Amino acid sequence: MKKWLRIAGLICALFPPGLLFAQQSTELPALKQEAVTEVDRLRTFTQQMVDQIFSYSELGFQEVETSRYVTGILEKYGFRVERGVAGIPTAWVATYGSGKPVIGFITDIDCIPRASQKPGVAYHDPLVEGAPGHGEGHNSGMAVNVTAALVLRKLMEGHKIAGTIKIFPGVAEEILGSKAFYARAGLFKDVDIVLGTHVWHEFSTSYGTGDGKWSGLVSVQYFFHGKAAHAAGAPWDGRSALDGVSLMNAGWEFRREHLRLQQRSHYVIINGGDQPNVVPSEAAVWYYFRELDYPHIKSLYEIGDTIADAAAKMSDTTVNRKLVGSAWPTHFNKVIAEWQQKNIEQVGMPKWSEADQTLAKALQKEIGAKVEGLKDKVTPLSEPVKEPIGGGSDDVGDISWNVPMVYLMYPANIPNLPGHSWANAVSMATPIAHKGSTAGAKVQAMTALDFLLEPELVRQAWDYFRNVQTKEIHYESFLAPEDTPAIDMNKEKMEKFLPQLKKYYYDPAKYKSYLEQLGVTYPTVKAQP
Ligand SMILES: [Zn+2]
Repeated sequence: MKKWLRIAGLICALFPPGLLFAQQSTELPALKQEAVTEVDRLRTFTQQMVDQIFSYSELGFQEVETSRYVTGILEKYGFRVERGVAGIPTAWVATYGSGKPVIGFITDIDCIPRASQKPGVAYHDPLVEGAPGHGEGHNSGMAVNVTAALVLRKLMEGHKIAGTIKIFPGVAEEILGSKAFYARAGLFKDVDIVLGTHVWHEFSTSYGTGDGKWSGLVSVQYFFHGKAAHAAGAPWDGRSALDGVSLMNAGWEFRREHLRLQQRSHYVIINGGDQPNVVPSEAAVWYYFRELDYPHIKSLYEIGDTIADAAAKMSDTTVNRKLVGSAWPTHFNKVIAEWQQKNIEQVGMPKWSEADQTLAKALQKEIGAKVEGLKDKVTPLSEPVKEPIGGGSDDVGDISWNVPMVYLMYPANIPNLPGHSWANAVSMATPIAHKGSTAGAKVQAMTALDFLLEPELVRQAWDYFRNVQTKEIHYESFLAPEDTPAIDMNKEKMEKFLPQLKKYYYDPAKYKSYLEQLGVTYPTVKAQP
């Protein structure tokens, strides 16, 4: 035990606890330095975790191996794990420690359909053709959070620091499928702050509306039911469910002209019938309705329902809907973001090697993006934009309106990629992702220490949450009481590819890295003409 802690213990015995914190805070820099050293010591552990989850490649709600693997590690290190939370089989909460403050960590674990890709190869080269893959980089987030949590556990134990660490998985983030259910189940009720983290090509954080490129959304599937008949012999006896879907889509396209410019909506037909000579008795379409705030999202959702009902009427079919996902627009906490930013600046960007830069530039060239390699500077914290324009969504938005939260972006991917594609998987089991995850883990651990040792910061974070963020806007879930998590989603897709994917699971007992196991030369780039 360090000398100052012995003194702190003595002071604690003689004086009220407030004085203890005053004593501890002066030693915060030393504890943070210790955290950095410990995260560096776990470098191989972090790398293996990044590679292992990359190799599992599991779609939303089917993160069975990933959850088994991560909870197994956490249990081994003394975390208490509660499985199947919020009615989701692959969701869990892992807890360590006791008392206040309670610090939550969350990051996503699911992957993207058809994004299978060999890591370290700067052109499209799937590991398993057509299979899911980590074409967003969610394989690295748990390596960041678990590394940080194990380091915190060691420091809390060694220095007798009070507080609780809770780890949550972002199940089915790609279909915005879990966080509103987590919130409804009360998972964040006793949590003081949440330190979320997400892969990116920058090292950054944000607060409020951030860069304004975020929307909230509801994701809804409409199922039309008609009547089968011989499509040529007796079409008059049939009622086409596909007509219902087509009329709904046509209706939405006309209505689109008369919606606010801030809306973004898109759909895919998930069932268009079986074969042309059978009038389709069943058909379905899946919509994402995105807007900037709750009332506008709700309004799009209602318009969608109206158009679906009208389409059913026109086609003499019936329709019912299922809400698959929902997300509030994110709003991150200013106080936590400002402290986190200091830690980002202290840690700094990873040192990229020549090979890292060669891979990044070759991939940027291959996909026709701006060729500029990897970022070499952290991103400054900027003022939130006044007029958001909207863009993608993340269901951590629901958490951010229930408890003060930030979202650390750690630099584990290559800039200028399209997102949600094989290209975004290229770096995700290479030294780029390994170094970026180690850097992220340092910031997560340091920011947690700030709030574990300074209760005043927790109070300030809640002050912003209560008196700025939620002063006029109050959280209301998009979920109706009868809505349940779409836990059967992706089941068939996953089962189809599982036997092939299993052959490629990473074996860290035999291979130092996944690149080594696959026999990939790092980096593999196309020969220059
Ligand atoms: Zn994501």
